[in-house]
Amino acid sequence: MGSLEKNQLQQLKTEFFDLLTNKYISLSLKELAYEMIKIVSSVCDIHEAAFILEHSTKTRRRAEASFGLEWEGSPSSSHVLDLIDSYEKTSLGPLQKESKEYKDSFLVPLIIHNERKGYLYIRKKSGESRTSSFLSRVGEECEHVFNFFYHYQQISTQETRYEQLYRVTTKFHSSMDMNDVLLEVISTLKEMYPTFEYHLLLSHDYGSHEYLPIKYLQYDGDNISGAAMESYVTGTVRMEGKMEEQYSVLYAPLNGKQGIYGILQVIAPDMTLLPKEEVKFITLLAHTAGGALENAQLYHQSKKLVEDLKLINETSHRLNSSLRLTDTISFMAKQICKSFRASEVGFVLFTDGTNDKRLAGSTTFFFTSAAQQYVEFVYRKMMKEKDSLFVNEASIHLEEDLLQFRSIMAVPMMQDGMIKGATIVLHEEPYFFSFDNFKLLQSLVHHSTLAFTNSMLREELEKLVVTDYLTKLYSRSYLDEQIQKSMEQDGFGTFILIDIDNFKKVNDTYGHQIGDQIIIQIARIIKTHVRENDIGARWGGEELAVYLPSVPLRSGVQIAKRLVEKVEEYTNPKTTISCGVSFWTRDMDDCVQKLFNRADEALYKAKHLGKNQVIAQGENVVS
Ligand code: GH3
Ligand code: MG
Ligand code: MG
Repeated sequence: MGSLEKNQLQQLKTEFFDLLTNKYISLSLKELAYEMIKIVSSVCDIHEAAFILEHSTKTRRRAEASFGLEWEGSPSSSHVLDLIDSYEKTSLGPLQKESKEYKDSFLVPLIIHNERKGYLYIRKKSGESRTSSFLSRVGEECEHVFNFFYHYQQISTQETRYEQLYRVTTKFHSSMDMNDVLLEVISTLKEMYPTFEYHLLLSHDYGSHEYLPIKYLQYDGDNISGAAMESYVTGTVRMEGKMEEQYSVLYAPLNGKQGIYGILQVIAPDMTLLPKEEVKFITLLAHTAGGALENAQLYHQSKKLVEDLKLINETSHRLNSSLRLTDTISFMAKQICKSFRASEVGFVLFTDGTNDKRLAGSTTFFFTSAAQQYVEFVYRKMMKEKDSLFVNEASIHLEEDLLQFRSIMAVPMMQDGMIKGATIVLHEEPYFFSFDNFKLLQSLVHHSTLAFTNSMLREELEKLVVTDYLTKLYSRSYLDEQIQKSMEQDGFGTFILIDIDNFKKVNDTYGHQIGDQIIIQIARIIKTHVRENDIGARWGGEELAVYLPSVPLRSGVQIAKRLVEKVEEYTNPKTTISCGVSFWTRDMDDCVQKLFNRADEALYKAKHLGKNQVIAQGENVVS
């Protein structure tokens, strides 16, 4: 190397140093190469120069920057590529460093990060000579700059990747919404490689966002490639390519702690290569997506469980506190309609195959003849299989043309190991109820059967008991029976319904025991003021009643007024009552229920008009 070359080399170093310290941060590889080639050609005074670099994701070689020669498709570009070909044919190995001289051109291999990443091509001006040691040194200086640049670039890519990963995981931890996380994963990927295509191949429908590129593994089964399936089954990354070792599709499993929820598919156009680090990063992202899906699923499951438990708890609580069977049943029917979006709910007691009893409180459909075929079907099947029924398409079992409901769930009501009846739930659409609905219905019925039986027993018992325990007045059921009888035998009769005024306040002020004492006091007053034949009864709670057979309305009202006066006079603490009086005669088309309703209406008026008074049926204005 002569002194001119030495000087030039010194000059080159200085300018490269300047480039590195001042500019490199904002430059792309292409821009950097361009700046370098400008420096090389001006400092070294040469005819042509170019960097031919192997691109990380492209397979074709091209000039990253050139001076003095056209590249794309030009004769000089094929001349350079020919030189490279012949260089590589005679090369001793990928790390060979010597430059080669071809007439007036030189090829200097560039070893960057221990890999031959490309060449510096130089064509000297004609008539000038260049020593090969000079050219090698120029190559080395270029290598330094590239090495430095690649190193910096690697660090900054890593930094961005970590930032991206941090963003995705933050989203993952801060949001219970799986869609948010998946959207973040996809948008991060799109930011990394905007030209790639991404799909999430999921094993379930998670109720996902419409903007997410989702395909379903089981439905699109035929379209799912072997590599995708393999990735799903083994939980490892798989690649698929058209040429050896050049992959164009990548599959990364979306795995959570408990399972694999699908696959992330990355489709790279035109055999683009994915560097190893990027595969690692994509795998990490897929992992995060898997976690998000798992979380969403667990969250959904536990929410559902909590809801189910709440329903069971609330129902059995209500059932155990409710007294009347009809209340119990209509409450259950309402709960089931609401929770399962059922159309009809029936509670049926089986007596024998053809005779069944539809319990009051079931929805109206169960009191029509159209319900018969469903009840019979449930009875037959349940007796045979001794189990609950879950039918998704009733037309398989029942006459199609009469069929209104296609989804049927039925759960037996058991008592002492025997099937006593069933809860039947219907919906018009086939496949309407989920298996989860069915399981929940089973536990709901299971939990409430005891309350049912209790209510039934209580009502049966009530029928047997003639006198009320607390007041020693007649029981409600005895009163009902006696009025019924009177209506069959007598010509007319009067009914007085009595409700204690402001009794809640009495209880609140003096306590329930004193409350009970007042009920007893009023019962005594009733007993002493009616005749032997009259029936004083405890209607329920703090409501009492008197039936006066063969007594006209006018006398009935008188008796009631007397009771109102006496109660006010004798109770201690002082309490008042209100009365509604109703009346029937043989020539009216009447029944017990209507008689009660009229008394109830009159009582309501008495309360409304200020309490402590009597109102008779049909009476509107009272002074
Ligand atoms: P109103 O004048 O409108 O009748 O007011 P009220 O406070 O009496 O209202 P309501 O008739 O609705 O209240 C009935 C209350 O009576 C509710 C319940 O706590 C109480 N009660 C019902 N049965 C009994 C019972 O057997 N013993 C006692 N101590 N209280 C009862
Ligand atoms: Mg009341
Ligand atoms: Mg009252």
